[in-house]
Amino acid sequence: MTDLERPERHEYDVIVIGAGGAGLRAAIEAREQGLRTAVICKSLFGKAHTVMAEGGIAASMGNANEKDSWQVHFRDTMRGGKFLNNPRMAELHAKEAPQRVWELETYGALFDRTPDGRISQRNFGGHEYPRLAHVGDRTGLELIRTLQQKIVSLQQDDHRETGDHESRLRVFAELTITDILKDEGGVVSGAFGYWRESGKFVVFSAPAIILATGGIGKSFKVTSNSWEYTGDGHALALRAGAALINMEFIQFHPTGMVWPPSVKGILVTESVRGDGGVLRNSDGNRFMFDYVPDVFRGQYADSEEEADRWYKDPENNKRPPELLPRDEVARAINSEVKEGRGSPHGGVFLDVSTRLPAEEITRRLPSMHHQFKELADVDITAEPMEVGPTCHYVMGGVEVDADTAATAVPGLYAAGEVAGGMHGSNRLGGNSLSDLLVFGRRAGAGAAAYVAALGDSRPAVREEDVATATEVALAPFRAASENPYTVHSEMQQKMNDLVGIIRREGEVREALEMLDEMDERVKRVGVQGKRPFNPGWHLALDLRNMLAVCRCVALAALERNESRGGHTREDFPTMDPQWRGVNLVCTIDEVGGVALRRQPVPEIRQDLLELFERSELAKYLTGEELARRDEPAV
Ligand code: FAD
Repeated sequence: MTDLERPERHEYDVIVIGAGGAGLRAAIEAREQGLRTAVICKSLFGKAHTVMAEGGIAASMGNANEKDSWQVHFRDTMRGGKFLNNPRMAELHAKEAPQRVWELETYGALFDRTPDGRISQRNFGGHEYPRLAHVGDRTGLELIRTLQQKIVSLQQDDHRETGDHESRLRVFAELTITDILKDEGGVVSGAFGYWRESGKFVVFSAPAIILATGGIGKSFKVTSNSWEYTGDGHALALRAGAALINMEFIQFHPTGMVWPPSVKGILVTESVRGDGGVLRNSDGNRFMFDYVPDVFRGQYADSEEEADRWYKDPENNKRPPELLPRDEVARAINSEVKEGRGSPHGGVFLDVSTRLPAEEITRRLPSMHHQFKELADVDITAEPMEVGPTCHYVMGGVEVDADTAATAVPGLYAAGEVAGGMHGSNRLGGNSLSDLLVFGRRAGAGAAAYVAALGDSRPAVREEDVATATEVALAPFRAASENPYTVHSEMQQKMNDLVGIIRREGEVREALEMLDEMDERVKRVGVQGKRPFNPGWHLALDLRNMLAVCRCVALAALERNESRGGHTREDFPTMDPQWRGVNLVCTIDEVGGVALRRQPVPEIRQDLLELFERSELAKYLTGEELARRDEPAV
């Protein structure tokens, strides 16, 4: 056996796959609980999606409005998710987010301040009060910088104690995991992957694995996501025997760049609207006033004058409709463009230049100013931007226990964007960064407790599984008839066109037929060259993950005969209370296909239901559910 053929071997207590906010917070927790922990990431350390987060992290610290509280944050999150959220996750998230933000400052983060020195909080769509703690429009950078700094400080502690910086916490960067390994009893025993640079295989033995691999955006043509978001964690979990829930709910962020073509999809942060930016069509109309849905009427301004007054006096005025939840704004933009009132390059106009002085725009939105100047030669202090919807975030993901982040597979945990349930049918801006920290910490603690309970009995990696994983990884070198780039590009275009922002039964069926065909084509994907530095090979391996994820999205999109949050069916345009209590669950069937079933959404506890007016609940719940709510407590 040559050196390249012989896999490298490592043994840990906990393996965290993903070095974004969720993965790093999970690793810190596991390490602080005394476990030998490895963090693995596909890209460079520090280059996870989390670093791209701009607007901020949502937490009800009440610094900008003391009426804010976890209860108000919980309410907003449930409304944003159209009541399909896992209520326990939404509760824990709202309660624990402020602690996680303050904790970050103890790690060395420095958020923007109010004049009296408190952490400043900004407005964002769907949040009743200014709630997003931020560092200009580079909040994710500060979050990742701080978590990495904490990792380094833990490594320095280990060096002092053991003489080795990596004795209890090691980062493996540019290493892709392709399979989760299990022992005979179906319990997690490790993971298999390869170094991207050398192509050398690596086998990790560990009783607990935390998936923190982020999103799936690269399955769609127009996306704000970068190259590594190919749904690996979703597919790894599925193949390992865990369930994916709510995969039909994909967030199309309303404002991505639309021009020039090379940057189409890159995000334009919601902070532009939070800080006063308005959306206009080609007739110059501020069209969002025409798109306030009934469930939100009463919370949003009826006139431009009232909307503008809200920025200065939120107590006595209603919010501008530009700050409706993202799904509403994305659909409105889509309609305006379809009706022929779009901008020259197929978007609408987002204007902050006539709303704020130039120096304030460059102070509050430095990255946006730079991004448009450099990429589109547009000066946002003097002219409007052109924007349109872009695939941004997946609400669906691995089904987990709210308190421990455990999946159905013993030893497998998931946190962050890869996990499902928390955001229901639509995520509010800023609620991801807080989700990462709250549930990253819980996943680290959950995995630590699991490992502690195992004692000395460690599940063993089966060598036949290593051999199979090696075979699968090498298969593209033996096939030759399909080019991975062509297959990927066709799949992305079809997903965009057929299972995108507006869905129709016939088109989703067409997408499923396309995926059947892709199944065969992906088996024939072949690559040239050798294992070192071979991006075509990497994509060939990612394709099987994207295929699995796309199938879950399409199957669930076909099944859900209603429109809710990030799932819009043109043939079923309204929300149906009968569907509110239904999660669609995907698992692998006996022959390796995807099976879909319906499962009840966990019930909302009575004390949480009582946080809402009955009239509001009546918009979402069935008569039966309402009657239960009205029953006197026994
Ligand atoms: P990520 O940060 O996405 O990290 C995933 C990690 O997994 C990476 O390290 C990756 O290399 C690794 N990985 C993936 N697959 C594998 C594999 N097979 N093997 C090994 N490693 C693997 N949310 C907010 O709350 N506020 C915002 O202001 C905001 N702005 C955003 C702006 C942009 C441009 C984007 C794209 C997103 C934004 N979001 C925002 C969403 C938020 O940033 C993400 O949802 C969040 O960062 C996801 O974090 P995560 O820890 O789950 O995963």
